[in-house]
This record gives sequence, C-alpha cells and structure tokens, in this order.
Amino acid sequence: MAASDLVNLSGLMDDAKCFAMVREHRWPEGVRCPACDSGAVIRDGCDDTQPHRQHYRCKACAGRFDDLTGTVLAGHHQPLRVWVLCLYFMGLNLSNRQIASELGLDGSDVQIMTEQLRRGLAAKTPEVTLKGEVEIDEVYVVAGHKGQPAVVAKRGGSDGAASWQARRAAARWRRTSRRSSA
Ligand SMILES: [Zn+2]
Repeated sequence: MAASDLVNLSGLMDDAKCFAMVREHRWPEGVRCPACDSGAVIRDGCDDTQPHRQHYRCKACAGRFDDLTGTVLAGHHQPLRVWVLCLYFMGLNLSNRQIASELGLDGSDVQIMTEQLRRGLAAKTPEVTLKGEVEIDEVYVVAGHKGQPAVVAKRGGSDGAASWQARRAAARWRRTSRRSSA
C-alpha cells in the first residue's frame, strides 16, 4: 500500500467510524456490561468531549460505562484512530513490520499494540487473559467462523483440524517458553 493510500484511509476514519468499529469488535453480539456481563444495557448519552463515544447504563448492576471503558484503548498515548487502523491491518493479516510502516510507527510500539489487541479489546490483566482456553493464535479462526461450525467442518476437514492443532501447540509452546524465561 502506498503512503498516499494510507493518507486517504486515515482521512476516511472519522471518529464516528472509529467508535463504530470498536463497538463491532468489542461486542459483536450486542453491548454487554463489563462489570457483570449483563446484556440488559441502555444507552446513556454521549461523551462531552467525544460525541461519538457512546455511554451506557447497566440495568442489572446500575454500573455506567462507555465504548472504551476497560479496553486497552482507554487512556493510551496513541490516538484511537491509530488503534483502529492497527486492528484493521491485523484483520488484513499484515505483519507488525508492515503495520509499523503503514502507520509510521516504531516496530516495537506496534508489537506491543498488536499483542494487546490479540488478547482482546477488553483485556485487563494478563492473569485473566491467560485463564482457560485463551489461545492468541486462534483469534481470527474463532472470529471468522463464529456460529458457523458446519461451514468450518465442511471447509477445514481433517487438514484444517491438523493445522489448527499445530498452531495451538505452537502457541502453547511459545507461551510456556516465554513464561519460563521471564
Ligand atoms: Zn452490569
């Protein structure tokens, strides 16, 4: 992608689109309360300084939150637009180096951003994200075929299952080795 394309892309990403994309990634099946996970949530106005940042109120626990509450995007030094473009490029399977070049950022900054994004927008602490069956390398597999196990079975076959197992093993190995070297 040429630099001029990025300028155009960046220009198309206005705040409304950025927040819409955050909501889409964070709550693909509807807004849920980050405190109690209830889906009984009502809109509660918008942010004073960011008019496209939707506020919500949970009817179950009366908690208040907004699009960015509890996400890695809140209070970070990179503008929201950069995060959203990073998410977008990750969806296109660009490497960290390619993303860094497209966004004009340092490679190590992008690596930190993509690692955080792979753990999930709403990831809070490493303890929580490493619980259970969290497998970093499977983010796209799960997201792409959500709710369509029949399609996966038809397309993937035994080959698909085998490579899935290999990736899963690789992810586990990397995680284990990282943890033991830390
Ligand atoms: Zn709640």
